[in-house]
Amino acid sequence: MLKAMDESKPPQRPVKKSTRLLYAGRRPEDQHGVVNPPVYHASTVTFPTVAELEAAQRDRLNRVYYGRFGTPTSFAFEDAVAELEGGDRAVSLPSGLAAITCALLAFLKAGDHLLITDSAYFPTRKFCDTLLAGLGVETTYYDPTVGGAIAGLMRPETRVVFVESPGSLTFEVQDVPAIAAAAHDHGAVVIMDNTWSAGLYFQPFAHGIDVSIQAATKFIVGHSDAMLGTVTTTNDLFETVKWTAVGLGICAGPDDCYLGLRGLRSLTARLARHQETGLALARWLEQRPEVETVLHPALPSFPGYDLWKRDFTGAPGLFGFVLTPCSKDSVAAMLDGLALFAMGFSWGGYESLILPTEPGKSRTAVPWPHAGPCLRIHAGLEDADDLIADLEAGFRRLEAAR
Ligand SMILES: *Cc1c(COP(=O)(O)O)cnc(C)c1O
Repeated sequence: MLKAMDESKPPQRPVKKSTRLLYAGRRPEDQHGVVNPPVYHASTVTFPTVAELEAAQRDRLNRVYYGRFGTPTSFAFEDAVAELEGGDRAVSLPSGLAAITCALLAFLKAGDHLLITDSAYFPTRKFCDTLLAGLGVETTYYDPTVGGAIAGLMRPETRVVFVESPGSLTFEVQDVPAIAAAAHDHGAVVIMDNTWSAGLYFQPFAHGIDVSIQAATKFIVGHSDAMLGTVTTTNDLFETVKWTAVGLGICAGPDDCYLGLRGLRSLTARLARHQETGLALARWLEQRPEVETVLHPALPSFPGYDLWKRDFTGAPGLFGFVLTPCSKDSVAAMLDGLALFAMGFSWGGYESLILPTEPGKSRTAVPWPHAGPCLRIHAGLEDADDLIADLEAGFRRLEAAR
C-alpha cells in the first residue's frame, strides 16, 4: 500500500462506508488538485542509484518497482477495494475468474483437498475439475446449506473451503460464520466469492472469511465495459496471494483499474437502485401464475431469507425465478420479444438482463429440485414500471405459445 496513495483527507471518524468509499485511494493534493488519480501506463520503473534500486527490490510488493507488480493506479484501486471489503490488502487481477484461480492456486498444492459449494459459479467448478485436478488437488462439492456440518467433510489434507453466497444461479444463502468456524478448527483457509454483494452488502472479514474475491467486472466496474478481478486478504495472507499473482505473471491493466476505481465512487448509489428495482420485480413475479418460485434472498418466502437477514445489509438486483413447467419454445417467445431486457452473461451494469439458466446440469452434491425452466434477472437502472410492463408483455407471448 503506497503511503502516497492513502486516503486524501482521512475523514473524521466515525464515518460511514459510503462516505469513506469516496475518499479511498486518492490524494488530489499530490496531483495539482485533480480529483481522480491518473492512469499510469508502466512497464519499466527507473531508479537513480544502485542503493535505491536495491531498496525498491527488497520492498517490491509494497511500492512502485516494475509494471507487473503494480502502478500507482492499481495501488489506488486496491486500497479502495480493501476499504470496501473490510480487509487489509487487495490484489487486482485481469478478470474475476483470474482472481478465483489465483486465490485457489495460492493455497493449494498436489495432495491437498478442496471443499467447494455445489452452487459455485460454473467456471470455478470447471477450473477445479480440470486444471486443479491435473495438478493433483482433489475437489469435493458440498451442499450449500451444509452449515457447521461441513466439519464432517473435512479431511486432514483439506486445505481450502470455498464458499459463494448467495450461490450462482440458485441463490442459496450459506451459513458463512458456521462454515468458517468449522474450517478454521481444521486449519483450512476460507475463500469466498463475494461478487453478488459487491462487498457492500456483506462484510466477509467480519464473518470469518480469510480471502474474499470479486469479479469487479460486475458491480464495481458497473458499466459492462471492463474485465477486472480482486482478491482481498488479511495482512497475514496478502504476500501468499500477491506472490502467486506475480509468479503467474498476471496483473490488471491500468485503464481497467481506473474504470474500477471510478465505478467504486457510485457503487453505493447504484446498488441501492439495483436493490429497489430488483425487489419490485421479484415481488411482482411472486404474484404471477406463470411463476412457480422466486429465488431472491430478500423475499421472506425464500428459504435463505433468515440467514440473509442476519448476515447481509442489502440485496442487489440479481436473482432467479422458476417458471411452472412450459415448453422451451414458449420461453423463447417470451424472451425473444423483450424490448428492455437483453440476454447476456455478465451482469452488474446499468442495463437490465435476463438469461435462461440450467442449474440442474452442473450440480453433483444435491440435485436441483425444480422441473420448470429457470431464469436469472439482473435489474438495471431503468424505471421499474417499464421493466414490469416488458415482462408482462413477455408472459402474454409465453401463454400464447404454451
Ligand atoms: C462473472 C462472475 C465471475 C467471473 O468474473 P469474470 O470477470 O467474468 O471472469 C466470478 N464469480 C461470479 C459469481 C461471477 O458472477
